[in-house]
Amino acid sequence: MMKKKAAVTALFAAFGVAATTAQAADTELNIYSARHYQTDDALYGNFTKQTGIKVNRIEAKEDELLERIRNEGVNSPADVFVTVDVSRLAHADQLGIFAPVKSDVLEQRIPDNLRTERWFSFSKRARIIVYNPELVKAEHVQTYEQLADPTLKGKVCTRSGSHPYNLSLGAAMIKHNGADETVKWASGVVDNFARAPKGGDTDQIKSVAAGECGVAIANSYYLARLMNSTKPEDQAVVDKIKAVWPNQQTWGTHINVSGAGMLKNAPNKAAAVKFLEYLASDEAQAYFANGNNEWPVVTSVKVANPALDKLGDFKADSMQIGELANTVAQAQKIYDRAGYR
Ligand code: FE
Repeated sequence: MMKKKAAVTALFAAFGVAATTAQAADTELNIYSARHYQTDDALYGNFTKQTGIKVNRIEAKEDELLERIRNEGVNSPADVFVTVDVSRLAHADQLGIFAPVKSDVLEQRIPDNLRTERWFSFSKRARIIVYNPELVKAEHVQTYEQLADPTLKGKVCTRSGSHPYNLSLGAAMIKHNGADETVKWASGVVDNFARAPKGGDTDQIKSVAAGECGVAIANSYYLARLMNSTKPEDQAVVDKIKAVWPNQQTWGTHINVSGAGMLKNAPNKAAAVKFLEYLASDEAQAYFANGNNEWPVVTSVKVANPALDKLGDFKADSMQIGELANTVAQAQKIYDRAGYR
């Protein structure tokens, strides 16, 4: 008896650190999130209900959180970092804050092209084209490439070229069409501006409806939000415009994601992995997608969203999402040179 007890004690001494970590992991999880929606309380609350792990959330802008994580260094309490857009996830990854996660659940649930070794996508959005049929012809706005065509001179509205959404699209253009074509494309788009870039994606959609411009690009959830809105002014906007899934005959519509990864210095690594796996569960996938009119990444999970149902099916770009990280910086340079600010 004594002998056995001694052996067990020795075992715990040898694995002292691991044992402590595992214990802490079962009680608490610290999430730094740059993504927040109304459904979040249910999303996080259900994780606590299922696992007994208490969730502490710090929500702030992406840059603030990244700076905080870096300043906290090895003492950072952050276990999981959640944010939106590949260019942002890639930026976080390039700062070296993520740790690799090996999980059968994540590998089985999340399609291969929507995960990397260190961060995982949990919802999808598409970058779509919206146009005003009174001002431009449908056949002139079927692809991203056409936005640079002289037929659309003075008709294109866009938010800043420095915004992550447009940088990710530029990164995809480089991957599919090459840097030289993307240089030409960017300057063509700039030549077609109806006005200098300003505002967010919703502003672009409203400008198209108001006739200030004929065509714009926007993330799908901004349009879906307007479509699902009961406000008469939002319905009036929707009535004035049409949406296009770009590039259906070629490489498919540019897809972006919300995602998360476990942090290198996470004190609760077991809980962090559990949480990432929870985000890929049927229930969490629905909350995560519905919170922002997005699509789940787990293909078997279907959400009931009137706007998304109405927009219908489309061919999505099937590129490895993590690949975009390699061309985001180049896209920024190309935009800068083209004057797409
Ligand atoms: Fe957004």
